[in-house]
Amino acid sequence: MAESNTLSIVCEQCHTQVHIPLLAHRQRAVCPVCNHTLLSYRNGASEKLLAYTTSALIFLLLSLPFNFLTFKASGQKHSIDLPTGITILVENDYLSLAIITSLATLLLPGMVLAGMLLLSLAQIQNRRPFYLPRLLQLVKALLPWSMAEIFLVGTLVSLIKITELADVSIGLSFYAFIGFSAFTALCISQFDATRYAMWLSQGVPPQPKPLCEAQAKASIQRTWALLLTACILYIPANLLPIMYTEFFGEETPNTIIGGVISLWESGSYPVAIIILVASVIVPVAKIIILAWLNFSVQREKTTSKQLRIRYYRITEAIGRWSMIDVFVVAVLVSLIQMGNTMSIYPGQAALAFCAVVFVTMIAAMTFDSRLIWQQWKQLS
Ligand SMILES: [Zn+2]
Repeated sequence: MAESNTLSIVCEQCHTQVHIPLLAHRQRAVCPVCNHTLLSYRNGASEKLLAYTTSALIFLLLSLPFNFLTFKASGQKHSIDLPTGITILVENDYLSLAIITSLATLLLPGMVLAGMLLLSLAQIQNRRPFYLPRLLQLVKALLPWSMAEIFLVGTLVSLIKITELADVSIGLSFYAFIGFSAFTALCISQFDATRYAMWLSQGVPPQPKPLCEAQAKASIQRTWALLLTACILYIPANLLPIMYTEFFGEETPNTIIGGVISLWESGSYPVAIIILVASVIVPVAKIIILAWLNFSVQREKTTSKQLRIRYYRITEAIGRWSMIDVFVVAVLVSLIQMGNTMSIYPGQAALAFCAVVFVTMIAAMTFDSRLIWQQWKQLS
């Protein structure tokens, strides 16, 4: 891509105007005030993105038709592929869990990849059809909700949870899903939305609109409302069972904490720690950190800006990983359906917990991190 020798770019976070030189391969320009990544450069970025998205989409297709997991216990055998697993959830009246799982693990990552494929192809051919700016916005908006890699970790945790009860083997589609998750992660790490926005506007860097007082007030109020909702939902999410295990006619409810304790007692310490961190510590820490950040911007605190933005970025990045436990339930429910011998059903907490994760994710998006740098009462 041809570039002029220097480029003037306005940081979308702190509104500082930064002059950056021509970037070389693998270089990244970072805002000197808030450390926000302004722009990156890689040789042949579009060609690489095209290759990675194509590979990821092929692996996605291959992860659908073949056997995903096989479960053997008490002389019975049950195999599922991914579409069957989702159908089992629907047939057992867990439509919401089926919709969430299929959206987050297959449909949204598929849409993100298809969007990136079209963008990279258009850039290689140097064509700018009218729908590209919308497509870029869509890809950016869907990125946090694309959770293939989290589903993969959830599946691995489910496998560890049930290896004591039965023989579990993984099928061809499972390997394809690993390929799909790995290539999706590569695509996301390579994708620079600012670079595409600049290319769409013929090399002019995007001009972020200044924040106005009404926006700032709305952001603060909405964040408080969402955090309160998350706190309320957190109570049923922890008190009610996240799943029921039926073993020879006897039904046992399992709460999130109960699951962590039984994993710990059975000696699966790393998995117990993963679930404890993802399901208990991360959501609570996220609510506390966002409340502190929102309070500090409402009061127009001017100190510890670097610290606050660092906490915000960590919160935003790790919040989605709390979905692990919801995916564990989805995998176990679709795999272990053997009538009275052994069956697993989702509990009410699965949806409540899922809502906690979504509401805190939306709260982190609603919280306008520009307010850490821009005092809202001084805005026009
Ligand atoms: Zn900045």
